[in-house]
Amino acid sequence: MKFEQRIPRETSARLFEEAQQYFPGGVNSPVRAFRSVSGPPLFIAEGHGSHMTDVDGNRFLDFCCSWGPLIHGHDHAHIRDKVIDTVRKGTSFGTPNLLSNQLGQLILDNHRYVERLRFVSSGTEAVMSALRLARGYTGRSKIIKFDGCYHGHVDSLLVKAGSGLATFGTSSSAGVPENVARDTLVLPLGDRDLLEQTLTEFSSEIACIIVEPIPANNGLLIQDRSWLECLRIKAWKHNVLLIFDEVISGFRVGFEGAAGLYDVQPDIITFGKVIGGGFPVGAYGASKEIMDFIAPVGPVYQAGTLSANPVAMAAGLAALELCLEPGFYERQASRTDQMATQIEAYAREQGYPLHVPHIGSIFWLAFGTERIERADQIDPDNMKYFKMIHHELLQTGVYLGPSGYEVGFVSSAHSEVDLQEAVAKICAAMDVAFAA
Ligand code: PMP
Repeated sequence: MKFEQRIPRETSARLFEEAQQYFPGGVNSPVRAFRSVSGPPLFIAEGHGSHMTDVDGNRFLDFCCSWGPLIHGHDHAHIRDKVIDTVRKGTSFGTPNLLSNQLGQLILDNHRYVERLRFVSSGTEAVMSALRLARGYTGRSKIIKFDGCYHGHVDSLLVKAGSGLATFGTSSSAGVPENVARDTLVLPLGDRDLLEQTLTEFSSEIACIIVEPIPANNGLLIQDRSWLECLRIKAWKHNVLLIFDEVISGFRVGFEGAAGLYDVQPDIITFGKVIGGGFPVGAYGASKEIMDFIAPVGPVYQAGTLSANPVAMAAGLAALELCLEPGFYERQASRTDQMATQIEAYAREQGYPLHVPHIGSIFWLAFGTERIERADQIDPDNMKYFKMIHHELLQTGVYLGPSGYEVGFVSSAHSEVDLQEAVAKICAAMDVAFAA
């Protein structure tokens, strides 16, 4: 398949060339390099509402939404105004501030699954801190994670399944020591027997089970509630902590995230993305009893120079105020459902092997027609279709994240007209991809 460029990309291409002299691979986060799709990455100049414009003047309907944080789209007036008001008063003091109290209160008053929070500056930092807390609280070192879940670039989670049944992990990145990886046990999602076997064999050594309750980093692997309930019950039974990594699902599928959607109470929840309104914010939360293990009250050390800085707190507060407007999540979910259903109906009519798993305002273009619940059910060969669809969509002004393993996000800034336009263009892109 030849990828014919019908939009100007010269300025992006030139800037990308230049960027390679400054940054490894020209980027500051790997997937931005567009390695799994066609052409150089686009340098985005600005974004407003549901659209962003690149340095060559191309305008795109954006379904990447900065990888999830922008639940209200780009440059939302309420967020912008609150941020600008805050910036005018100084950007960081390294002291407690009123805005962090306000954001803390807003969250805790509206989220039944956490009693205390600690703000940090990224999802990775939230997960790293939550693991340390779980280890400090239980006095144990091993953790269980699941194949197909991503938890940021934390050493002990950059681990893939090794060989064997109850598998000790092996590192999936250079620089992660094998003795760190060995403390991570990697299991397939949904395998209850293997989970029980592993917990029985190692229970005196296991600090926690960590899971993305809605795995959304390796496709969208929607799980049954009964699986999450099983994790909860087994964690109680074996006296280990259950961590829900809700960096994507938190404040996205509902204010209470997946915990609320499925009504399953984890011991610790990690947050990121939406919580910061487009600024670098993460958080982790738990019961008061568990959170009192954190310094300065408890023995588990965790700190941050710019943690809970007022500007990021202002953005998060403004974003979450908008999320609490009546009907916000219902509207997001029903519009996303409508879009996904229309795309799927077209694929079915045409006999194209594609379906669109979706939950809340998260969707994924999945190849094949069978439900996909585990990472190993994704056929990497099908990524050639994604590459073509992605390319075709860029030519027609729709921006998806540059990998077929990434999910898309609908924001409240996407209008009905935007969504109809997206359906038509995605269907047209399928025609090109599946005809090739
Ligand atoms: N956990 C999950 C579930 C995530 O999706 C991500 C980021 N995609 C992270 C952790 C890491 O967050 P960050 O990129 O902000 O460090």
